[in-house]
Parts: sequence; C-alpha cells; structure tokens
Amino acid sequence: MAPSKPRVRFAPSPTGYLHIGGARTALFNYLYAKRYGGTFILRMEDTDQERSTPESVQAILDGLNWLGLDWDEGPGKEDPKYGPYFQTQRLDTYRAHAEQLIAQGKAFRCYCTREEIAQRREAVEKEKGQGSYKYEGTCHDLKAPPPGKKLEDAVIRFRMPSGEGTVSFNDKVLGTITKPYSDLDDWVMMRADGIPLYNYGCVIDDHLMDITLVSRGQEHINSTFPQLMLYQALGWTPPEFAHLPLILGPDREKLSKRKHPEADVMLHKRTGIMPEALLNFVTRLGWSHGNDEVISREQMVEWFDFDGVGSTSGVWNPEKLQWLNQQW
Ligand code: GLU
Repeated sequence: MAPSKPRVRFAPSPTGYLHIGGARTALFNYLYAKRYGGTFILRMEDTDQERSTPESVQAILDGLNWLGLDWDEGPGKEDPKYGPYFQTQRLDTYRAHAEQLIAQGKAFRCYCTREEIAQRREAVEKEKGQGSYKYEGTCHDLKAPPPGKKLEDAVIRFRMPSGEGTVSFNDKVLGTITKPYSDLDDWVMMRADGIPLYNYGCVIDDHLMDITLVSRGQEHINSTFPQLMLYQALGWTPPEFAHLPLILGPDREKLSKRKHPEADVMLHKRTGIMPEALLNFVTRLGWSHGNDEVISREQMVEWFDFDGVGSTSGVWNPEKLQWLNQQW
C-alpha cells in the first residue's frame, strides 16, 4: 500500500563536508517524500560541541543546494531562509522528557564519573574480553546524590527493563532483526550539562517531528535497538526503518572521508561533474531501477521506493561517473 504523506528526514552531524553516503541518504529520503506527496525535513544533529562547526553546517547546506535537495520544513518557514532544525536549539525539550522519564522510573540519574566507568570497564574487559562491560547498576536505586556529589553532576541513563525480553524491528531493506535485552545496557541519554546523546535526541525529535520512516546508513542498525527501547518506555509508536547498504570505494574498502577524496560531494562540483550526473550515480549505490542508464530527476521521483534498495554494498565506479557526466 502506498504510504500516505510520509514524513522523512536527513539528520547529519555537522562535523565535516557533505559526503557521498550522506548525499545518498538525503536523496533517497527526498525522493520518497516527493514520490508520495510527503515532507522532507533537514535536522542538524549539532550536539557534539567539540566537533560541530558553522562551517560544516554551511558545507552541508552548500552540498544539498548544489544537488537541488531542498527541504520542506523548519522553524520560521515564513522566512525564505527558514530551517533547518538544530538540536542545540531544542535543549529544553530534551530536558523535559528526561525529567518525565526519571519521574516514571524509566531513567535515572547516575553519578559515576567517566573515569570511574573507564576504570571499571578496563577491569571487566581485561577479564572477560573487549565489549563485555555493562553498567553495573551502581546508581539504580539512589534517591538523592551520594555524599560529595550534586544533582548537577549526574548524567541521565535509560533504565533497561530487567528480564528476558527481546527487541526487534522489521527493516524495509534488511527484514526482521532482533536483539535480546541482555545485549543492551543502561545507556546514557543526556550528559550532566543537559546535552542529549545521539540515541536520545534522535528519538525525541523523530517522534515530535512526526517522522514516519527513518532511512539512514547501516552503521546505525545497532543504535536502532536502544532507540526502540526508548519508544517503548515513552509509549510512542516507532517509525518504519530502512537502513541503507555501505558504499565501498574503488579499492572495495568502506568509502571514508579519510581515505577517499571522492567521498566529498563538492569535489565533484569543482572537477566539472554536473549535479544531475552525480545524482544518477548516487542512486545506483544501492537502488536498482531497471535497465535505463540515465534517468531524469522526474523519473527518479516517479520510480523510487525502498523496496528497490538492496542489502549489499554499492561500489564506487569512477568510469561510470565520467560516462554519466557526458550524457548532459
Ligand atoms: N547524526 C547522525 C549521523 O550523522 C544521524 C543518524 C540518523 O539518521 O539517525 O550519522
């Protein structure tokens, strides 16, 4: 059944230029919104204050503008330069929901310092191996700060339900994926200074922005499980999910900013690639759409759906990009 007016989003962390993986995520979300008369939202996840910069925000906007991937909504829509949303402008919202979860016993204040956790982690991992550490529940039942600590020192942790449960979702690309509760931890939702961590801010925003489908790279699959636990705790219906396959560089290594200069969208502008050629190229990184070698933006909108996205990696092919570029 065709979705009715889907609401989708692209939620980059502005810590560098717009890379090809981000452009593909933005493109697929954009096409899906356009095809079904929905809304495409741009949300800057700018809570990592050491790494987020205004230059990166601008670089991402420049990349999206060059590709013509306009968003439909944001604060101040009446202003021609409206949007995007910025998480750092929404801190009161995250705080309010965290307080509500604490009051309901679904989250708790944790006073263990980063150093204490690091020490405990090291000791456990030494004995049981890398990745074996789980928060011990030290602050689970505290009603007030322990001696020498203040309320403002506390991070806020999600309280994983005890017991044997599992958490599962049906991904539109990958099918059903399940994890036992025992693989999950009492994860940190919010730092002591009120800055939300990714999983927390993402769920609050996706829900409050009425997102109906979340499409992002496969590197976020493991984050989907704690996020689903939070939807459950808040009594909210989760969106659908569509995780996109990895993109490999010409050397078949994961396409990364560090190793592959071609990961930079704007490099292609500088080297004379047409935006339509790059869009055609990027649609092929995971989506199959019949035998047409070159398709127009209108055809992309007409044909795109997540059903056509495969679970295997797309591979960078420089000759193909050059060939596509000659078609305009
Ligand atoms: N800020 C995250 C990133 O850039 C977003 C992941 C998501 O779409 O949920 O990787």
